[in-house]
Amino acid sequence: MDVTGPWIRTAAAAGLLRDGVPLPTVFARMSALAASTGALNLGQGFPDDDPPALVADAAVAAIREGRNQYPPGAGEPTLREAIAAHQAAWYGLDWDPDTEVLVTTGATEALAATLLALVQPGDEVLTLEPFYDQYAALIGLTGATHRTVPLTSATDPVSGDLVLGVDEQQLRDAFSARTRVVLVNTPHNPTGLMLEQSVLAAIVEQAQRYDALIVTDEVYEHLTFGQPHQPLAVLPGARERTVSISSAGKTFAVTGWKIGWLTAPSALVTAITGVKQWLTYTSGAPFQPAVAAGLGMDRSAFAQLTEDLRERRDLLTAGLRDIGFQVAVPAAGYFTVADASQFGEADGAALAERLPTEAGVVAIPLSAFHHADSSGAQDSASRLRFAFCKSRSTIEQALERLDAWAAVRR
Ligand code: PMP
Ligand code: GLN
Repeated sequence: MDVTGPWIRTAAAAGLLRDGVPLPTVFARMSALAASTGALNLGQGFPDDDPPALVADAAVAAIREGRNQYPPGAGEPTLREAIAAHQAAWYGLDWDPDTEVLVTTGATEALAATLLALVQPGDEVLTLEPFYDQYAALIGLTGATHRTVPLTSATDPVSGDLVLGVDEQQLRDAFSARTRVVLVNTPHNPTGLMLEQSVLAAIVEQAQRYDALIVTDEVYEHLTFGQPHQPLAVLPGARERTVSISSAGKTFAVTGWKIGWLTAPSALVTAITGVKQWLTYTSGAPFQPAVAAGLGMDRSAFAQLTEDLRERRDLLTAGLRDIGFQVAVPAAGYFTVADASQFGEADGAALAERLPTEAGVVAIPLSAFHHADSSGAQDSASRLRFAFCKSRSTIEQALERLDAWAAVRR
C-alpha cells in the first residue's frame, strides 16, 4: 500500500523518518523509554502537580452541567472573554474577544494553524536555535525554509555556569526580504532563556523593515523566576503584525487538556481560523470554562504556582552543578540544560539513550532541538535537558542516581 502523502515527503526531507516510517517525537520516545526501563522521567515536560483546585472543580462542574458538546469554533465566549481580560490585566493589551481571540487545541494547534495559514513555499521562517521541535516539522510542512540564529554560549567566570544568549547583530542579519515570519519563543524551551528588551526591540524593528509577521510562543509566560514576562506584542509597532500564542497546559498543570489560544488583529485571526476550523474545528468543551476560571485567579494564586516551581528549579540546578555538570540557570519554564562533557560525554544523543539503563534517569538530548548540520548543534552536542516540573522526591532521587553514575566517571 502506498502511504506517501505530503507529510511523508516533508518528513523525508527533514530527516524525520526511519526506514521510510515517521519517527515518534523525542518526547514520546523518551517517555516510552522511561516506562520500559522504570527510569525516573525528567524528559517530557509534563508536571507531577495537580491543577489548582478551582480549575479542576470548574471542569468537573462543567461536565456535570452538561457542557459536553461542540463549543463554538472560535472557543467558548467565557474563555475568549477571560483571555482578553487576562491580556488586558497582565500586559495592558486590548483584544476584542469576538474577533481577535481564537481558542485552539493547545499551543500546538495554534502554531500549526498559524504557520499553515500564513506561510508558503519560498518563504523563510526565522527562529532561534535550539528551537521547540514542532517548529521545524511545521515549517517543513509549509514548504518554507527554516532559518535559525544559534544561541551564544559563554562560561560565567565566577560561578562557572553556562550562560546562553542572543547575538543581536546576528539576529538582525538573519532577516531578509524572504522572511515571512519570525517565530519567537520566550520564555524559551529548552533553555529557559527570556529574551531581553533590546532583543525584542530588534526583532520588531527588523520585522517592520522587511514587512515580516511576528509569531510568539509564550506558553511559559507565567512560570518566570525573576523578571516577569513581557509579551512582544506590547512593543511599539508590534501589535499589528503579531500573533501571540499561549496555552493553559503549563500554567495550570493541565498539559493533557490541550487548551491553547492566540490573540492577533482580526484579519490574522480570520486567516488562521480558516485553517483551524478544518483541523479540529473545536475541542475541550468542559475544559474551556475551567481555564477561564484559572485565568481569572488573583495574582497571589499565580505567584504560588511559580514559587513552588522555583524551589524545584533550584533543587535540580544546584544538584546537577554539585554532581559536576555545567548548568545553565533557567530564568523561566520547566527545564535546566546541563552539559555532560565534563564526564567525557561528547554525544548527548547517545548518552540520553544509555542514561535510563546506566543511571535510571531519562533526559532529552539538546540535539532534538537542532538541525543536525547547524553550527549551534555542535555547541549543544554534549548537552541534555532535565525537567524540574516533577515532584521534589522524584528530583531528589534522580539526583542521587546521577551522582552515583557520575562518581565512577569523575
Ligand atoms: N510551545 C512550546 C515552547 C512548548 O514547550 C510546548 C509544550 N507545552 C508547546 C508549544 C505545546 O503546547 P500545548 O501542550 O499547549 O500544545
Ligand atoms: N512541550 C513538552 C516538552 O518540551 C512536550 C510536548 C510534547 O510531548 N509534544 O517536553
